[in-house]
Amino acid sequence: MPDRFFPLARGYVITSPYGWRDLDGQREFHAGTDFGFDGGSGGKPVYAVQAGTVIYAGAASGFGGPDPAGWVVIDSDDSQGGGVFIYGHVVREVAVGDRVVAGQRIAMINSDSRTNGGVAPHLHLAHCTFAYSDTDRDDPMPYLQGAKYPGEGTPSGFTFFSDVSEFQDFVDDRYPYRILTIRSNDGDYRDRKFQENYARAVRMFDSGKLDVLGVYFYWRPNWQTCVDVHRSMIGNPHPRIFSMIDVESGYGNENLGDQSTALNQTYDALARWLGNPKRVLAYANRNDFTTMWRSRPSGLRVIGAGYPDDPRLPGQIAHQYTNGVITGGGPLGAAPFGNCDMNKTPLSVADFAAAVGVSIPPPTGGGGDGGEPTSGSLWDKLGDLWRYVRDHLNTLIPTR
Ligand SMILES: [Zn+2]
Repeated sequence: MPDRFFPLARGYVITSPYGWRDLDGQREFHAGTDFGFDGGSGGKPVYAVQAGTVIYAGAASGFGGPDPAGWVVIDSDDSQGGGVFIYGHVVREVAVGDRVVAGQRIAMINSDSRTNGGVAPHLHLAHCTFAYSDTDRDDPMPYLQGAKYPGEGTPSGFTFFSDVSEFQDFVDDRYPYRILTIRSNDGDYRDRKFQENYARAVRMFDSGKLDVLGVYFYWRPNWQTCVDVHRSMIGNPHPRIFSMIDVESGYGNENLGDQSTALNQTYDALARWLGNPKRVLAYANRNDFTTMWRSRPSGLRVIGAGYPDDPRLPGQIAHQYTNGVITGGGPLGAAPFGNCDMNKTPLSVADFAAAVGVSIPPPTGGGGDGGEPTSGSLWDKLGDLWRYVRDHLNTLIPTR
């Protein structure tokens, strides 16, 4: 069964079911199910019932009068559950062409009751059995049997990892994920927990508890100092690490404007040091990325920050979706840190590692586990990676 979620959070009520109803003395067929909350629904988040691709997002006139913000229509292939779900009377938060995962926030209920035909704000959920059509509207409720509540449990299909510094506890073996990012320095300030975190991460590589480590520094205009301190703290770089340039306009970096020349020199220096430009990533939110690093190296990979909305930056391979407080898109933290910055990537651990120029040695051990991945799994992974790159090719092309 495909992964499915209810379109509203736990506690919703059905305000008008699918089928014939009397409304203002008129008998009419209600070709969908209305969802809301006791006490008011305006502004409440709406979540994708199942994964798919947004094929329409905009104004609608068919849902009880003018609806300027509109509706969202998501088409799912058979592996995603098939059919088309229609979300009406909402303010959309996704655009045509976006691929969404099941349980992802896609809209909020429009709080202007004039867009709802004068009745209280609610979500109108409809379903087309096959492709989108104006007439094919079956009952959406049977599809929700066994669905999960949004925000509860872990969304499937993502690889998660934490992003920590001296503000969190030291890393230890309780950490449940295969990728981790830690801070080394901010300009010439050395993170007080870096050396122990780094040494522990290397031991976790050796014991099979961790696969990839990113080490980031807060970038400053005296970039040469940043790089020198970063390098001296790491020493001889472990083959499973990548470096990450944290590009932010805050904490003394306000109003720097376009820093492309210095950032490109930073990138080049790290790429030379690590011997592979893939092992140099950027971290940024959309505004800082497009303001501070206007002309970027081709092929630059990025962790895009946006809470909880995905900034979908050019070259983005992971999304920092929470600061440990703002919910959306996955867990708010991990052991042993508790709440912290969290990232997710649609790539598998192996594909993420490949994207950052790290090769994960096969597990060592007795028996016939000689070490080489089977050709089948390798080709599967390469196929997945190729499909991902192909689907994101337009976002990998530098904007200017
Ligand atoms: Zn309705």
